[in-house]
Amino acid sequence: MKNLRDNLQTVKQNIERAALHSGRKASEITLIAVSKTVDIDTVKLACDLGISDFGENRVAELGRKREALPAVNWHMIGRLQSNKVKDVVGKACLIHSLDRWNLAQELDKRGQVLAQSIPALLQINIAGEEQKAGIAPGEVHDFLDASSGLSWVKIFGFMTIAPLFEDGEASRPVFRELFQLKKKFSDNSYRNVDLRFLSMGMSQDYEVAIEEGANIVRIGSAIFG
Ligand SMILES: *Cc1c(COP(=O)(O)O)cnc(C)c1O
Repeated sequence: MKNLRDNLQTVKQNIERAALHSGRKASEITLIAVSKTVDIDTVKLACDLGISDFGENRVAELGRKREALPAVNWHMIGRLQSNKVKDVVGKACLIHSLDRWNLAQELDKRGQVLAQSIPALLQINIAGEEQKAGIAPGEVHDFLDASSGLSWVKIFGFMTIAPLFEDGEASRPVFRELFQLKKKFSDNSYRNVDLRFLSMGMSQDYEVAIEEGANIVRIGSAIFG
């Protein structure tokens, strides 16, 4: 698939340029190819072209694709219902969408059953959009503090979805705020918390996100069309 190859090359070049802008190397940025709109054959092609991380926003679809392609990393990036927790733990390498306390508790229970730690990112609703999941910036401290009491869930950073703007540049203040939040809470030492990842930036705004400190970007349409 010629388009896929070209798209990937363009995305990788843009990542490299944006990383340089922020004084980093492209190798410090993890590219997640969001495969929610494509079938497993297309995922395999992307895999052959060197992609090692894929993102899905539905648990069943993640499970199906992972069965066909178990050797790559599968990321859960969409809203996670509590009754689907059992189907995702042990399958997703990282859950980007921890967005409420009772989900943390459900995940922790499941971790206990499997005796398996569960890496997750706290989803933050920076812009305070009504229709979007995520906790408010003002609730982060309490959430991290409470997480110290969990046994299996480990919080490795923050994720956000910027409001949909025509122009990626408009997302910059959102990304900057998430970076500041990470900086602020990195100094505290909460048990079970190690804030090393910032998952932010999608097709429309990943370059801006990287310039503002993202080290994980989730890109769908710019890769798969
Ligand atoms: C679909 C999706 C993406 C990718 O979006 P594109 O605009 O296609 O790059 C990233 N993150 C989440 C949470 C998504 O649901």
